[in-house]
Amino acid sequence: MIPYGRQDISQADIDAVIEVLTSDYLTQGPRVPAFEAAVAAHVGAKHGIAVNSATSALHIACMALGLGQGGLLWTSPVTFVASSNCGLYCGADVDFVDIDPATYNMSVAALTAKLQAAEAAGRLPDIVVPVHLAGQSCDMAAIGALAQRYGFRVIEDASHAIGGHYNGTFVGDCAHSDIAIFSFHPVKIVTTAEGGMAMTNDADLAQKMDYLRSHGVTRNPDLMSHSDGPWYYQMIDLGYNYRMTEMQAALGLSQMDRLDAFVARRQELARQYDVKLAHLSLTLPHQDHATKSAFHLYIIRLQNGNHKSVFEALRADGIGVNLHYIPVHLQPYYQRLGFRAGDFPQAEAYYAEAISIPLYAGLTDADQDQVVAALERAL
Ligand SMILES: *Cc1c(COP(=O)(O)O)cnc(C)c1O
Repeated sequence: MIPYGRQDISQADIDAVIEVLTSDYLTQGPRVPAFEAAVAAHVGAKHGIAVNSATSALHIACMALGLGQGGLLWTSPVTFVASSNCGLYCGADVDFVDIDPATYNMSVAALTAKLQAAEAAGRLPDIVVPVHLAGQSCDMAAIGALAQRYGFRVIEDASHAIGGHYNGTFVGDCAHSDIAIFSFHPVKIVTTAEGGMAMTNDADLAQKMDYLRSHGVTRNPDLMSHSDGPWYYQMIDLGYNYRMTEMQAALGLSQMDRLDAFVARRQELARQYDVKLAHLSLTLPHQDHATKSAFHLYIIRLQNGNHKSVFEALRADGIGVNLHYIPVHLQPYYQRLGFRAGDFPQAEAYYAEAISIPLYAGLTDADQDQVVAALERAL
């Protein structure tokens, strides 16, 4: 089976992790801040807060921005459930903005229309979470301008997009957002097994996320109401244990050495798919002129109502295709919150046609030809 995605682990990665096991610190040592600094320097953000998953990063990002009971978070329906669950964790309400039919990212036109209606109705969102689907940035300048106009905060779910570009700079530099989130799950572009990071240029948000990932406890005297002595720490908010371990950080730090090569290979494979699949009746990924995708995923859309049969044929042929994503509002849990089929027509039309085909740095040209041949047969 050729999977749709998989990690790439080198001997240097293995050595880096093993070295931690004989060092003084398995957690809360020097490698976590070193990994944070490496990612921040690479993408051009001032701060990085490493945590045990992107889901945790989304949660503490929402908390740091003050989301709570009575609050409102909007995101795209075409995403992993974590992008909206973070709002529910905070006791806020969640709603969705339909996708752009070309990029499959949150539609700026739909967002603008929904904001106008929300302003008239007197309930604007507190936070909007654009998701950079497949590694292609959303139109962040437009979303940032709407944030200014309507007074909401922006968390980029960049789980797919480390190494991608928007308007000539790296995704994650937070040029048009408050916080950007990366995931280091093994199918993503660089991995720490489980792990995530929140990027920000705001020192205050960085400080908040720093104590929220560790029980809401601080040793920073500037944040405490008082001190009883040199042993003193203080719990100043209700936080969690979302810390990343030293083994994870060592793996991430070692992987960062190959980020550019990983993304370059993914982009090369994507260009090859563009050519090798051009003769088939498929819709291939659209590349917006302002972006350079990191190509976490290569998503095709089928055009002839043969979605399920092609998916099944590819799986039977040893091609580990997947579907990213079942629209979140169609999940039973979200249906119980009141969402209905028909609420987000572009997302649902996408769901009826989309398939992710194998794409990862270690995919060989021969593997890719096997995927192309299987698709030709299936069609
Ligand atoms: C993978 C993913 C997440 C969650 O990442 P974890 O690190 O597994 O918690 C969130 N959002 C999107 C869009 C993702 O693809």
